[in-house]
Amino acid sequence: MQVPLLDLKAQYAPLREEIRAVIDEVCDAQYFILGPKVVAFEAETAAYCDTKAAIGASSGSDALIISLMALDIGPGDAVITTPYTFFATVGAIARVGATPVFVDIDPVTFNIDPAAIRNLLANWPDRFAGLTPRAIMPVHLYGQCADMDPIMELAKEHDLAVIEDGAQAIGSEYPSASGTQKAGAIGTTGCFSFFPSKNLGGFGDGGLVTTQDEALAEKLSQLRNHGMNPRYYHKMVGGNFRLDAIQAAVLSVKLRHLDEWHASRRKNAATYTAGFEGSAVQTPTMVYADAGVEHPHIFNQFIIRAPNRDAVKAHITEKEIGNDIYYPLCLHMQECFAGLGYEAGAFPVAEKAAGEVLALPVYPELTEEMQDYVVKSVLEAI
Ligand SMILES: *Cc1c(COP(=O)(O)O)cnc(C)c1O
Repeated sequence: MQVPLLDLKAQYAPLREEIRAVIDEVCDAQYFILGPKVVAFEAETAAYCDTKAAIGASSGSDALIISLMALDIGPGDAVITTPYTFFATVGAIARVGATPVFVDIDPVTFNIDPAAIRNLLANWPDRFAGLTPRAIMPVHLYGQCADMDPIMELAKEHDLAVIEDGAQAIGSEYPSASGTQKAGAIGTTGCFSFFPSKNLGGFGDGGLVTTQDEALAEKLSQLRNHGMNPRYYHKMVGGNFRLDAIQAAVLSVKLRHLDEWHASRRKNAATYTAGFEGSAVQTPTMVYADAGVEHPHIFNQFIIRAPNRDAVKAHITEKEIGNDIYYPLCLHMQECFAGLGYEAGAFPVAEKAAGEVLALPVYPELTEEMQDYVVKSVLEAI
């Protein structure tokens, strides 16, 4: 049996007519960049994310970049983040000329460890002495929110902005002491990606910045269009970070199904968790499951840990089961960041995870038969 890691054709089939109709509307209007479809989608996503504003962007990476630009973060500034994420998180910091400063992750959630941030701020390393800490950039990895209450508290204490990288977590909920909060509605800005493999995936690249700060929203929206306001007058230098109308139109259709897809992914995750019970396979922990939130995890990825990960990967690949390693090499070990001066062993929790994680198919349309086959094949290799 073949089980792909993700099957976007299965998601497209029931939506085909509806999506082709809205693409036709864009073709008939010949209005391709920003415009009414983007404005409508921004209003829908702001409502979905419980934020005052949402600004469409050209990608999740660019959403992170314009967030940093809007906060005037650049050379001489430090941004505290996780070494265990997709490259774009840290790439964005470097792209604006700021310096990423890493702390280790929590071994259960794989998210940035607030205690490690506290420790870093209390013992700022000598080699970063010339830098001003300006922001914390937590990532809601695999679809589960980082522990935001202590992060927001530290940010307040140290006058830091918080840029949430929610690329894998749109709609995920965090049970704050002050009530349920959605990813992207907690920090100074929230950044999302509509890369096709995310839970809300477009027909190409796309992204979004959310914020509760209306003045910042205005600045973000100008920065994504060359810092222009009014037309052909530029008080600041932005860039071409715009969302296309075709993407917005497709995403508006898909957004209406997002919560049911999240629920199906959670159901599939529960099936795997039951299937691996009692084995040496470690399954993900939904740390907010008992906190009364509807979406404690949206399972953009279902990640198992196995001490003999490479053997498991080889076996299930042989069995034609899609799988991948997110991520095999921590960011502080990447060649392009050698200049930061980190060495192997600096972040033992993240480094151990990189050697043990394996993503299994968890997309909503997966059948029970496919899941049984995946569980059986993984267990054969354990
Ligand atoms: C996908 C992703 C991004 C980048 O999004 P793009 O739309 O591909 O630019 C950033 N951060 C994380 C954690 C991601 O998973």
